[in-house]
Parts: sequence; C-alpha cells; structure tokens
Amino acid sequence: PAQLTRAESLIAITPDFPKPGVLFRDIGPMLQDADALRTVTEALTAPFEGGFDLVAGVEARGFVLAGAVAATAGTGLLPIRKAGKTPQPTASVDYALEYGVATIEAAGDLTGRRVLLVDDVLATGGTLVAAARLVEQLGGEVAGVAVVLELTALGGRERVPDAHAVFAA
Ligand code: IMP
Repeated sequence: PAQLTRAESLIAITPDFPKPGVLFRDIGPMLQDADALRTVTEALTAPFEGGFDLVAGVEARGFVLAGAVAATAGTGLLPIRKAGKTPQPTASVDYALEYGVATIEAAGDLTGRRVLLVDDVLATGGTLVAAARLVEQLGGEVAGVAVVLELTALGGRERVPDAHAVFAA
C-alpha cells in the first residue's frame, strides 16, 4: 500500500555510522511523520491484535515503538532497561553484542501476561532473544515479536524465526 511505501521511504540510511562499514538505518524521520507513525504502528500491531496484553521494548527506540503499540492496542507497557537503571530488578539477562556484552533488566511479575516484544531493527537478533529470555524470567509468555525493519543479511531471523517485520532490507 502507498502509505507503507511512503513510511519506508522515511527510514534514513547513513553509511559508516556509528562506525566505518556499518550502514545505519534510522527510523527518526519516520517517527516525526504523523501518517507514517500511525501506519507503521498499525502494521506492527495488527498480526497480534487480541493476542497480547503487554508490550515490551528495549531502550531506547524500542521504548518509543512499544509505547505507540500499547496505546494503539489498549495494553500495558514494559520498558526493558539497560543495566543499572532499574532500582530493584527482578530479572537480568546478559547478551553478546557485535563488540562486547550488554545486560538488560526489568522488574515485576509477569505471571499470566502475554507479551508482545517490539523493536525498530532486527539485526543479529541478539537483543530480541535476550528480551524474550527476560520476559520469561519474569514469568511472562512471549506472544510475538514485531520489528519495523529486518536487516536480512545479518541473520536475525535464524534466532527469531517467528518475527514479524513490517519492512525488510
Ligand atoms: P541485534 O543485532 O538484532 O541485537 O541489534 C542490536 C540492537 O541494535 C537492536 O536494538 C537494534 O534495534 C539496533 N540496531 C542494529 N542495527 C541497527 C541499525 O541499522 N539502525 C538502528 N538500530 C540498529
């Protein structure tokens, strides 16, 4: 549809950011456009409508999208934070980045909650796999994974086979 095509065109591509050789995709311009934000939020949400009651996103861009999806679907929101930001975390997951390791944390009891995981970009999949483990540590069930853009060359789909990607590149 034309609205999705237009939204995709608002994802900015910057070579050699944040380091040489990386082709960085930035959803910033897409977020600033009311029609594109609504279109993409609905496309993220629609396949899972009725199947989740909480939306989780990893800071920072995952927060933004998770908030938009939660407001659209009328559900709650779980912001998953990087290490050291949550006063009393009840779950913590370490995961490998391209260079080094990272830790994500959250607090709460997600027993009985069906959680939709949301992020801007599916690259290697490491972040979303870690987020899924975190949700399970908190007692929740991962109801689905939705991303705006899948970078197919980075192989994330092998680790997150059921991911729903609005766009692929
Ligand atoms: P992963 O490799 O799938 O774990 O991606 C790592 C994190 O970096 C995720 O939160 C992605 O959203 C983010 N990321 C990876 N590549 C890009 C990019 O090109 N643009 C914006 N975010 C990216």
